[in-house]
Amino acid sequence: MPVTIKSAREIELMRAAGKILGKVHQDLGKKLEPGMTTFEIDRLGEEMIRSYGCIPSFKNYHGFPASVCISVNDEVVHGIPSKKRIIQEGDIVSLDIGVIYKGYHSDAARTHGIGEISKEAANLILRTRECFFAGMRYASAGCYLHQISASIHNCADKYRYGVVRDLVGHGIGSHLHEDPEVPNFRKFHKGIRLRPGMTLAVEPMINEGTGSVEWLDNDWTVVTRDHKLSAHYENTILITKGRPEILSVTEDEIAEGIWAPGGSE
Ligand code: MG
Repeated sequence: MPVTIKSAREIELMRAAGKILGKVHQDLGKKLEPGMTTFEIDRLGEEMIRSYGCIPSFKNYHGFPASVCISVNDEVVHGIPSKKRIIQEGDIVSLDIGVIYKGYHSDAARTHGIGEISKEAANLILRTRECFFAGMRYASAGCYLHQISASIHNCADKYRYGVVRDLVGHGIGSHLHEDPEVPNFRKFHKGIRLRPGMTLAVEPMINEGTGSVEWLDNDWTVVTRDHKLSAHYENTILITKGRPEILSVTEDEIAEGIWAPGGSE
């Protein structure tokens, strides 16, 4: 499938979808506390998504049984919400959420610490976000796609973290997953040249130890092979001639200065 360039109308719809998703992440993130089940978190998330007139992108997507992917500690992505899974003080919890607004998707992920977490865990979360923004330095028209990938990888290398290679980011629009694939690791070829109007979901998945992963028996949940921690940070972005527009964040986050996370700029 060719990489699509979104029209002005499509971009407006994706901006609206992104603003809603940013708000859902912000509100759901604040509700997390020790003792909740991942089932409860999913239910709250789905209620929020539907309260904005949106449809959860992930529900029933290739049979995924819930609206929010909730991945705890060594789980990288695609954790399935469960009444048996209770989050506890010291855990790190990744929420990956997609919404459909008037036919257009937005996709974003955040990792949250529950109560007091270790310094190592807090650093992993902050630096995974830093990796995303390192990628954003090359997310402009005229750059090549794999410059984003290499910049994410270089940032992770700086901390000797493992980069997950079995899963990648993606184009996004009227479909959740569109071309191109957006790897988080260096490639030998440059990839496509970025053009204004492309919309991408860029999503570093960064591990404390090895980047190797394996799938659990449920065929969904991906865990680190060494069972060390993993963090995930994702936004849907719009390529422009200058800095990319980060679509899946709130106005508050932009006002707080998302462009200098962890002093990496
Ligand atoms: Mg995604």
